[in-house]
Amino acid sequence: MTTCKTCCSSTPVPHFSKAGTPKGDSFIQQILALAARPDVISFGGGLPSPEGFPLAEVKAAADYVIDTDGKRALQYSSLKGDPALRAIIAERETARGCPTTADDVQIVSGSQQALDLMARLFIDPGSKILVESPTYLGALQAFMLCGPECVEIPTDAFGMNPDLMGEECRGARFAYVMPTFQNPTGLTISVERRKKLAEKAREYDFWLVEDNPYGELYYGDEPPASMRAFCPERTITLGTMSKVLAPGFRLGYIIAPKSVLDAAAEMKQAMDLHTATYTQLVTARVLSQGLFEEHLPKVRDIYRSQAKVMLDALDEYMPKHPEITWTRPEGGMFIWLTFPKGVDASEVMKKTLASDVPVGFVPGEAFYANNPKDHVNTCRFSFVTVPAEKIVAGVKSVAEALKTFL
Ligand code: PMP
Repeated sequence: MTTCKTCCSSTPVPHFSKAGTPKGDSFIQQILALAARPDVISFGGGLPSPEGFPLAEVKAAADYVIDTDGKRALQYSSLKGDPALRAIIAERETARGCPTTADDVQIVSGSQQALDLMARLFIDPGSKILVESPTYLGALQAFMLCGPECVEIPTDAFGMNPDLMGEECRGARFAYVMPTFQNPTGLTISVERRKKLAEKAREYDFWLVEDNPYGELYYGDEPPASMRAFCPERTITLGTMSKVLAPGFRLGYIIAPKSVLDAAAEMKQAMDLHTATYTQLVTARVLSQGLFEEHLPKVRDIYRSQAKVMLDALDEYMPKHPEITWTRPEGGMFIWLTFPKGVDASEVMKKTLASDVPVGFVPGEAFYANNPKDHVNTCRFSFVTVPAEKIVAGVKSVAEALKTFL
């Protein structure tokens, strides 16, 4: 009998599937573990700021749900999701330029589940999918379990560039895109590029999976409308309550044409029967009480001012060098930095972690589907959970470390 070395020598080796076989501690996990030390200023996390959580509103809604509808809240419920919640989501989409009914909405257990669903619905081993370069690490992890071939969509300083999408896109199962306040770059693609992306999807016959967790978090003007406004017949939009209400609720949604929605529901049933009834009812109550109108401006204010602190600090302290650049997001949670070719961001991070003001962030190579080592000179900073004075001290510390590599 072969025995397992990770738990105890008398445990037989589990017969894991190919996808299920643990890959071991990845480089990125090691880096993030280092950055999680309590003395470290962390620009690494993708967590929303808990300062923005509407505790009083959620408490009032939770009490209301238990008092008025407690038995329903604790019971199993429909696969598609609570009708009141779906109706509120549809109303907001409609107000944003994408006519939507409650029937167009499927509730899911976080948009990460939606990504898992997209992978299972569309990807066979070797299927071609299109992804931005760089793209969201969690999406890559979900997709990779199904073994796709990822073709990277070329990107420039303005985000993904559909002008550069050609024959290689033909036959792709879908293009996974974040047109608004992208993770990891913070960039938003223009209306013109959205229109071109819709044309390319039609020309090369691929669907669009539009992930939009950050669209509500704009600092100034509202961003352009969802891809559904430009390409309704082949766009699947993924949304979430994680960044605007509470990630702990694990509540997201899919808006798509009926053929996809029906298939997603069938698949979801096998995965978890339905999304938690209680959190759906609490969320529906919170939203029906006008939470978005009252609460979102406060979250936007927090993020706008935190982003400004970080951008000002970068302007002031980063070494002046033509190849040291960063994005200037107009919403969302992330700034993307590029260092000169040959400077490895994880080495810079190791240096800052060993300094008097240790700072963690995410080395950019984690966000690339193909040839990550070509992108070691990039990294992602998040500013939303770090107090202003620590943002400044952290940027100063990274800048000092970076200078030693130039
Ligand atoms: N998509 C993107 C782009 C994200 O940044 C995240 C969260 N980091 C998710 C999806 C998953 O969000 P959730 O499952 O909490 O809805």
